[in-house]
Amino acid sequence: MDLSLSTADIEAQARARAFVETWLHPNEIACDERTLSKKTLAEIKKNVLRYKLNGVNHTIEDGGHGYTPLQQVLIAEQLGRATNGMWTVCWKASTPLKYGTEKQRQEFLIPINQGKGRACYAITEPEAGSDPSMVKTSAVKKKGRWVISGEKWFVTSADASHVILVHAHVDGDPKKPTLFIVDKDAPGVKVNRIPKFTHNYLYEHFEMTFDKVTVEDDRRLGDVGQGFDLTKEWFTETRIEIAAHCLGAATRATEIANDYAAGRIQFGKPIRDFQAIEFMLADMAVDLFATKSMIYRVGAELNAGLDKKMQHARASALKLYASEMAGRVVDKAVQILGGRGYMRENPVERLWRDVRVDRIWEGTSEIQRMVIAGQIKKRGLGIYSGW
Ligand SMILES: Cc1cc2nc3c(=O)[nH]c(=O)nc-3n(C[C@H](O)[C@H](O)[C@H](O)COP(=O)(O)OP(=O)(O)OC[C@H]3O[C@@H](n4cnc5c(N)ncnc54)[C@H](O)[C@@H]3O)c2cc1C
Repeated sequence: MDLSLSTADIEAQARARAFVETWLHPNEIACDERTLSKKTLAEIKKNVLRYKLNGVNHTIEDGGHGYTPLQQVLIAEQLGRATNGMWTVCWKASTPLKYGTEKQRQEFLIPINQGKGRACYAITEPEAGSDPSMVKTSAVKKKGRWVISGEKWFVTSADASHVILVHAHVDGDPKKPTLFIVDKDAPGVKVNRIPKFTHNYLYEHFEMTFDKVTVEDDRRLGDVGQGFDLTKEWFTETRIEIAAHCLGAATRATEIANDYAAGRIQFGKPIRDFQAIEFMLADMAVDLFATKSMIYRVGAELNAGLDKKMQHARASALKLYASEMAGRVVDKAVQILGGRGYMRENPVERLWRDVRVDRIWEGTSEIQRMVIAGQIKKRGLGIYSGW
C-alpha cells in the first residue's frame, strides 16, 4: 500500500500553504472585525490567480487547473488553516455548472472559474432545511419563460456573486426539483435581511425573496427533475472539502496549543509537563492522525475512480467525523491556552467559533448519520469496515 504524495501533490500543498500564510493569516483579524478593505481583498484575489487556487475542482478546459481529487483535498486542508472562512476567497464554479449546456459553459462555468463573476447556491428555505423536499420555491413555465417565486435563506456569498443557482420545484411539484441560473440583479430578486452569525465569515449569508422572477429556458441547469441529483453531487464534493478544512483548522489549533504548552510556565514548569495537558495533546494528535488517514485515503480512492454511490457514502462519513473531531480538538486548544484562548485576537478562539458551523451546513451531523446508516443497511457494513 503506497499512500505517499507525488511531487505534484507536494507542490500544490506547499503552494496553498504559502498563499494562506502570506495572504490570509495577516488579514484574519481585519476579516473578523469586518474592517478588511476592498483594496486588500482585491490584492488577495489577484494572488488567488497567481497561486493557481481558483476553480480548483475544474479541468483546465473549464477554466480550472486540472487538479486531481487528492490534490483538491490537500489544497482544501491548507486553506482550512485560515480563520473566518477566508478560504472562500478562492472562488470556484459550483459543480452543477459542469453539467450545463455549451452556452452555459461559455457564459458561466469558464468565466466564473477564471474570476469573472461568481455563483452562489440557494436551496434552504424557512421551512426547508434538512428536508429539501419541503422547498416551496416554484418555477412555472409561462409563454416559454420560467417564472420563479419563493424565499431562500442562508445564501452564502450572495453579496460576492452575480448569479444565484436557485433550487426550485417545477409547478410546485417536489418530484420535479430543478436548478435555475438567476441574475442577482434581475427584477423581483430582493435581499430581505443580512443576519449576523457566530463566525465573521468573509462574505454574507443573505435571506432573499424571488418575486415572479422571469428567466429564459436557457437558464435551466440540467433537466426538469434533475435538480436534486445535481445538488447531491455538489453535497458530495463540498462535504469532502469541509472535512479537509476541518483537518486544517484542527491541525493549526493543535500546533498553537502544543507550542504554547511548551512555553507557558506555571507551578515552576511548562504546563505540557502536567498530565492533564499532556493527555489533551495526545488525544488531539490521535484525532488528527485518524482524520488525516481517512481523508487522504478517500482522496487516493477518488483518484483511482471511486464510483459515485461510494463517493456519497464516504463523503458523509468524512464530514461527520472531521467536523466533530474539529469541535473536540479546537475546544481543547482553547482550554490549553487558558484565558488567552478566549481572546478574539487568538486564532484558536476564531477557529473555535468557525468550526461549529461545520456540524450544521451542507447537511447536519444527524443527516450525515442518516446517510451512513442508510448506506450500511443497503450495502452492508463492509463499505466502511472492509479493506
Ligand atoms: C452559515 C451558514 C451558511 C449556509 N449556507 C447555505 C447556502 O449557501 N445555501 C443553502 O441552501 N443553505 C445554506 N445553509 C443552510 C444549511 O444547509 C442548513 O442550515 C442545514 O441544512 C440545516 O437546516 P436547518 O437549519 O433548517 O435545520 P433543520 O433541518 O430544521 O434541523 C434542526 C435540527 O433537527 C435535526 N434534524 C432534522 N431532521 C432530522 C432527522 N430526520 N433526524 C434527526 N435529526 C434531524 C437537525 O440535524 C438539526 O439538529 C447555511 C447555513 C448556515 C448556518
